[in-house]
Amino acid sequence: MAKIRLYIDHPLAAGQPVALEQGQAHYLSGVMRQKPGDRVRVFNGRDGEWLAELDQIGKRGGSVTPVEQSAPQQDPPDLWLCFAPIKKARTDFIVEKAAEMGAARILPVQTDHTNSERIRQDRLQAHAIEAAEQCGGTYVPPVDDLTPLSRLLDGWDDARRILWADEALAGPAQTLAGLQGGPWAILIGPEGGFSATERARLRSLPFITPVSLGPRILRADTAAVAAMALWQASLGDWR
Ligand code: SAM
Repeated sequence: MAKIRLYIDHPLAAGQPVALEQGQAHYLSGVMRQKPGDRVRVFNGRDGEWLAELDQIGKRGGSVTPVEQSAPQQDPPDLWLCFAPIKKARTDFIVEKAAEMGAARILPVQTDHTNSERIRQDRLQAHAIEAAEQCGGTYVPPVDDLTPLSRLLDGWDDARRILWADEALAGPAQTLAGLQGGPWAILIGPEGGFSATERARLRSLPFITPVSLGPRILRADTAAVAAMALWQASLGDWR
């Protein structure tokens, strides 16, 4: 079975050639030494995974032709991850892990104690794509642009519940037994935690469920992974 997996943002169907991006062509020919006739696996986030044959390949470009579907499309459960961006490498880590853990959408939020005022959405999206390529997933979660938490909550559809990782509850870890399935989002704060104003608003909203992630205060990147594991094990596709 071909080992190399590539995300290709084009419809995939048997016998229909698709162009490679320059970076992908360079990686395949220059780094992985692939030649015409070699096989790779490709996916586009919608049409499952396909075994595909390299037609032509050079450092500047190339194309592949899907031969047969090697895995069906598998979408994650309806779980969003909302998190306050932190330092660059740790934000990259959160996006990468969210894609691996099965987030359906990734929403960076600006909170009162968030340090950064902007993010490189394109770079974070590329991290989500790379994570999907490496973990064997066929779905790539979209990464939104940075949105203020207050604006996100103003327009929130209350059919989607929010699991709020509340550092003030640090103590005995909680199980999610008794919570209903359906659309959910996880909310993780920044290094400085949530402000008093944010805490008051979050506590007043009917669609919020505050949770403890155990007795220790976790770094935001650890907390994001821990909360997703907790949710996946109780309500998601780990069951
Ligand atoms: N500066 C804050 C403090 O000292 O209380 C800690 C913020 S923590 C580094 C970053 C985020 O991770 C928090 O806003 C929360 O969402 C989550 N978090 C970390 N540990 C947690 C815990 N034990 N229970 C619930 N949430 C936690």
